[in-house]
Parts: sequence; C-alpha cells; structure tokens
Amino acid sequence: MAQEEKPDILVYDLGGCEGCPLSILRVYPQLSRIANVYSRCLGPVDLNREYDYAVITGPICLNSVEHVENLKKIRKKSKIVIAYGSCASVGGIILYARGGQEPRPEHRIYAPISRVVKVDYSIPGCPPAPQMLISLINCIKRGKGYFLDLFRAVSYFPKLSGFDLMDEVVLNGLCVGCGACILSCPTNALQMIENRPDLIPEKCIRCGTCTVRCPRFSQLLIRRSKLFEKSRLLTSFER
Ligand code: SF4
Ligand code: SF4
Repeated sequence: MAQEEKPDILVYDLGGCEGCPLSILRVYPQLSRIANVYSRCLGPVDLNREYDYAVITGPICLNSVEHVENLKKIRKKSKIVIAYGSCASVGGIILYARGGQEPRPEHRIYAPISRVVKVDYSIPGCPPAPQMLISLINCIKRGKGYFLDLFRAVSYFPKLSGFDLMDEVVLNGLCVGCGACILSCPTNALQMIENRPDLIPEKCIRCGTCTVRCPRFSQLLIRRSKLFEKSRLLTSFER
C-alpha cells in the first residue's frame, strides 16, 4: 500500500516569551510522524515556498514592518494558518504591553495575528497543551472533529479571557460548577466559591484557556461562530 504523503508544516515564531515554540518542540517526535516540520528552532526556514500548514506563535508587533510583511507572505504561501498560543490567538497579556523599550523602542503595539491576516484556527493557552495541535491536525485531515469546530470558532474572537467567562457563563447562570476552568488556569486566577468560580482580576493574564476548557463556554463559542458564518454567507449571497 502506498504511504500517505506527509503535509509540510512551518512553525514560525513572531517573538514573545518563547514558551509556545518550546511547547511544540516537546511533541516534535509525535508531530514529525504525521508531518514534515520546518521551524527556526530546528534550522533555517524558507518563507518563499509553499506550506500545507503555518503554525504561528507570538503576537504581531504592528510597528514592525518586517514582521507584518513576513506574516502576510506566510499567509499567502500557506493553505491553513493556525494561531498557536494566547499571544497569537487572543492577544493575552501582551495586548496590554506598552512596549517602547530597548533595543526596539519603536515597537509599541502588539496584537493577535488575526489583526493582520485571516486565521483558520486559533488555539489559546499560555502555552497550550501541544497535543492539541496534533489533535487539530488529525481533525483537519479527517475533515471533522470537536477541535475543528472549537478552534475555528476561537479564530473569530480577537479577545477571550476570564472576564468573558464570568460575564457569559457564570453571571448568566450557565455554570454547572465542574471546575474545569479552575484546573486549566495557569495563574490560579479562578477560585471556587460556593460551587461557582470567581475571578481574581489582578491574576488574570487574559490567556483565554478557561474559555475553551469550559464545556458551556466552548459550546457557546461554537454556536456563535456558526451563526456568524451563516450571516456572512447570507451577506455575500445578497450582494
Ligand atoms: S482566568 Fe486564568 S485561564 Fe482564564 S484567561 Fe485568566 S489567566 Fe487565563
Ligand atoms: S468550566 Fe465552565 S461550567 Fe465548569 S465551573 Fe468553570 S465556568 Fe462553570
């Protein structure tokens, strides 16, 4: 039986704390079994060739012409773009960074990459569990799966955090008290009080992890994204 051809994956880091590219390196053996991986952590990469997937980590610095141009070039050359990690997908704490420091004082404004290019899937997390990237790629290959719907849904939201979890789930009476959000929070910004989570605002780094781990919020995100896609389809049909 002929062996299935592996897709080519570019892992490209735009900067930040480097936790996301390092987390991908941790699953490199598993990832390289299902794809050919090209990453600056492993050697030089060619931005002028085509890739099946581009996995982007780190926020886009809107003042950096080089980064913005590289990101646009990658989008043009890649069939599927995945924003990996909170900075690339929902901005995270870097959205609130003032920047302006040496050695690049001109770098001031950071944003999720969807501000510059179309993103197909977004995986929030600081860093995300890298196995989710493998699961997502397997779902894309199969053309179905929960992660496909969830991470496509997240790509429509430029910001997601514990504040949204409070507003959309807890204060709306949708919380079932399962505690998944609390277990997923990397900074212990959520605590259980009388069987419902409560946010400690100063501890929340706006990573968005709790929103995708919450069974109620993730369903809400998927439902809203489907409504959004439907309305977009109707609008383009009407034109
Ligand atoms: S509450 Fe925790 S998991 Fe949720 S966005 Fe804030 S830091 Fe991230
Ligand atoms: S994960 Fe969602 S449903 Fe579960 S405790 Fe947290 S807010 Fe409530």
